[in-house]
Parts: sequence; structure tokens; C-alpha cells
Amino acid sequence: MSRSVRVKCAKCEREATVRVPYAKLSLCSDHYVEYFERRVLGVISRYRLFRSGDRVLVAVSGGKDSLTALRVLSKYRSALGVELAGVHIDLGLGAHSEESRRVVLESCRESGVECYVIPLSEILGYTLPELVRRSRRPPCSLCGLVKRYLLNAAALEWGFSVVVTGHHMDHILVFRLKEALTGQREREAAKLAPFTPGAPGLYAARARPLYEACEWEIKLYRELAGIRHVEAPCPFKYRDVISASIAEMLEKIEREIPGFKISLARRLAKSSAGDATIGVTPCKYCQMPSSSGVCSLCRLTLRTHGEPMGPRVRERLRGVVKAE
Ligand code: AMP
Ligand code: ZN
Ligand code: ZN
Repeated sequence: MSRSVRVKCAKCEREATVRVPYAKLSLCSDHYVEYFERRVLGVISRYRLFRSGDRVLVAVSGGKDSLTALRVLSKYRSALGVELAGVHIDLGLGAHSEESRRVVLESCRESGVECYVIPLSEILGYTLPELVRRSRRPPCSLCGLVKRYLLNAAALEWGFSVVVTGHHMDHILVFRLKEALTGQREREAAKLAPFTPGAPGLYAARARPLYEACEWEIKLYRELAGIRHVEAPCPFKYRDVISASIAEMLEKIEREIPGFKISLARRLAKSSAGDATIGVTPCKYCQMPSSSGVCSLCRLTLRTHGEPMGPRVRERLRGVVKAE
């Protein structure tokens, strides 16, 4: 016969509701929220993500990850000595984008963070689905290209030194292992590091404060901290068999060896700290980073628009104002 044993929180007298296996910790809800925030702050200091006085632009999609990053940063911005703003790209995906925009603006308002909204249809002339039809390129690679360009260009145009994204540990480990498994370099390793330094006029720095947080921890934090988010996945989302299998394998190892994922992430962080600007030259049209003299957005829009849109996009970004 087994009796369920009530486990006490490691920090107070209350009953524990959360078990964190790799840390061998049982915590009540309030202490879990505190624990999670401390871990994110630990990542910020371990990888020196910010310097006092940094102007930080948080890329907020409306999903749980970036809203979690926004919440933690907004709570500790004065202790970190940073100035914070949000940015949301409205990709024009119908009801999904409308809901995302509403949730992001609501969350920014609640956190006392000003937010810029970039409507793709006005900045580029096309929504993402229109761009997919015109270019006949896969939606996810197009979306990634457009977001990378716009976030970097916006930070440079608006004078932000760092862009924060909600990439988390599971996300990053799967990407890195997929690269190794398929031999395809989907992204440069430096782009998935906890921190990618900037280069004046070319790159804003990139910071990933959820680098050591796994997905279940973020899900639980979001729920316990009462953060509203968009639950529906992106309408273009598809199941990638390789990524899903790698994620399953990692979970299996983590169950047997708690802490395996964090150790791996820390080792990868050391090997990914390369210089992202090696081999990069300014685009001859828009001066944004390129590997061949013409950036990926100008190359794409030469085909879809008949002209390189980089310069026009940069000019239009200058006119984007913060939402009320
Ligand atoms: P994803 O590539 O969609 O998994 O998103 C990775 C990160 O990019 C998110 O955590 C956000 O920080 C950022 N991001 C994604 N979509 C948007 C968007 N529409 N607007 C602003 N930031 C975004
Ligand atoms: Zn407690
Ligand atoms: Zn260009």
C-alpha cells in the first residue's frame, strides 16, 4: 500500500506543487516563479547579455516564450539598468495576426513597456502569404528572413543596442543537433548563442535570456505568473519529423540524466561564441549585412517586387511610431 507524501517547498512551509528534477528542488508556486526569474537573471549575468544603459528591444510574437522574456525583463529593468521597448511584426496572417497584435499590446501595456508595431503589408507592400505566393519559397524560411531583417534594421534605425528574442534551450538544442545530424547549416552557430555581439551600423547585438530555460519551465512560469498568450500555433506551422525526433531523444536522455540539457547548452555556448561578422559585407543597396554584396531581402524583393526593397523598408521603418 502506498500513501502519497506531501512534500514541503524547499523555501517555505507550504506544500510543494512543482518538482525541478535537474535542480533536485520541490517548490510552491510562488517560489517557482521566483526561482525561474532568478535563473533568467543568472543567464543574463553569466553571458553578460546587457550593459548598464543599453537600449533593449524585445521582439514579442504573442507566443509564451517572448512574452515570458518581456515579463522578466520588465520586472527587473531598473536593477539591470536597461531601457526597454517591445516590437511586434504583424505578418498579415488574418485572425492569427490580429490576435497576436492585441495580446502583445495588452501585455506591453500591463508591463509598462512601450511597443512598436511593424505592419509587414505597409512596410514591404505584401503580407507574408502574398510574399509566399509571389516568391514560391517555403513560408518558414521567408518568415525567418523577413523577421531577421526587420528586427535588425528596426533596432539600428531606432537606436537600440540589443534585440532580445524568446528562443529557449529546447529550441536551440534541437537546431544545433539538427545541423549536426543533417550536415545542413540552417543558421550560423553564432546566431543561436546566448549572445551575439553587434557591429556598428551593421548589426544590433542579439540576446537570448531564455537560453537555459526549457519549454516546460516556460509554460509553467507563464501559467503561474498569469501571462496571457496566443495559444493557436502559426497557421503555417508543420511537423518537422527530424526536429520532433531530436526533441524526443533529448527528453529521454534528460529523464535518465537530469541536467544533461543544461550541460550541453553551456558547452555549445562556448563553441558558438564566434564572430558573426566574419565574411559579412554591407548590402550595396541598403547597407544591411550580406554575404555576397546583396542582402537576402534585396535579393528576394528583386524577384518579388522587381526592385531591391531594402532602402525603402529602412526608410519606412523610420516612420513607425510606438503604439498607444
Ligand atoms: P520563432 O522563430 O517564430 O520561433 O520565433 C523566435 C523568436 O522570434 C520569438 O521568441 C520572438 O522573440 C521573435 N518573433 C517571432 N515572431 C515575431 C513577430 N511576429 N514579431 C516580433 N518578434 C517575433
Ligand atoms: Zn515556497
Ligand atoms: Zn539590401
